[in-house]
Amino acid sequence: ERVGYALVGIGKLAEEEILPALEASKRSRLAALVTSDLEDGKRLARRYGLPPEAVYGYDDYDRLADNPGVHAVYIILPNHLHEDYTVRAARMGKHVLCEKPMANSVAEGERMIAACRAAGVKLMIAYRCQYEPHHWAVREMVQQGRLGAVKLVESVHCQVESDPGEWRLKRKEAGGGPLVDIGVYSLNTIRFVLGLEPVEVFAQTYATPDDPRFREVEEQMGWQMRFGNGVLAACLTGYSAFRSSRYRLYAEGGWVGLDPAFDYRGLRLSLGREEGGQQVVEERRFPAPNQFALELDHFARCIQEDLTPFTPGEEGLQDLRLVEALYASARTGRPVRLEAPDKPDAFR
Ligand code: NAD
Repeated sequence: ERVGYALVGIGKLAEEEILPALEASKRSRLAALVTSDLEDGKRLARRYGLPPEAVYGYDDYDRLADNPGVHAVYIILPNHLHEDYTVRAARMGKHVLCEKPMANSVAEGERMIAACRAAGVKLMIAYRCQYEPHHWAVREMVQQGRLGAVKLVESVHCQVESDPGEWRLKRKEAGGGPLVDIGVYSLNTIRFVLGLEPVEVFAQTYATPDDPRFREVEEQMGWQMRFGNGVLAACLTGYSAFRSSRYRLYAEGGWVGLDPAFDYRGLRLSLGREEGGQQVVEERRFPAPNQFALELDHFARCIQEDLTPFTPGEEGLQDLRLVEALYASARTGRPVRLEAPDKPDAFR
């Protein structure tokens, strides 16, 4: 039986990416929609072959408990609502796939993990890059040492946020600025491809004075991470430079990276090596299935076969720890040292 998902929060991502991805998936199906706009929900229900009674308002969220076709909820709400909707799903005995960033603080993330553990339901954070073949190719190349030891990493993720009313620019809703929304892709993906955790971080933020968009959150951040084996990573993120998403790892015998890296489609891998005393640059593009469908099907398989997801709650929590350390560093102007996290016995 396919795993039935209730989508909670029908914004841009849910409508444009997740609904089509459910159709493209192999183990997953749409089982319910939870939205503030019931008319719009019914329109989408018709389009995706869902009965109208499977469209719920937020006030009726807890009634999902009585719908046996809903095995999991997928939380696609603004960040400050992730904890509450996760904890309530756990109480209903539903598994939880939750969008990044997991939550707005380490404390919230810990409560989400505890609630899911107590209820015996699975919790996965939607880090789609960890289910995408181009990123896996980089990870394998790096971890098999095919370019020698990695020494340096760089990553940029920026885009323009022009609407001052956007929830992403409100501290209470978003929990932070570009770092938590898009910089988190650099943070998470570098950890994933290296298979290592930072032991020290250092950050600097800036916001243009009097720009109404950046009264509550940073406009941009630059940060550095040092890993235990001496690898240094330098990252940039921002909400006022034209969109760009890339990372590159520099190893003793070559470099490899993606550009674009964090987009929904069209990813491109490039590789630079020495050959006969010259630098050769190669580009690789593979047929890549819809990354959201791969992610949905991974969690569906974990539910069907009782496995721990590859990106469980603890993976989201580790990023929240790093985010708190980065903001602390930016505030104090000092580097922040980190303890190695406890890792669950996950799918990996
Ligand atoms: P959005 O603003 O387009 O949609 C948010 C939805 O939540 C809307 O339907 C809105 O009506 C609803 N909502 C309910 N309560 C709300 C409240 N109090 N304030 C504002 N909206 C409220 O946002 P989005 O871009 O779909 O982002 C939702 C989540 O998905 C965020 O956590 C974001 O980080 C994440 N996201 C992930 C990806 C990805 O590639 N994995 C991409 C975009 C967004």
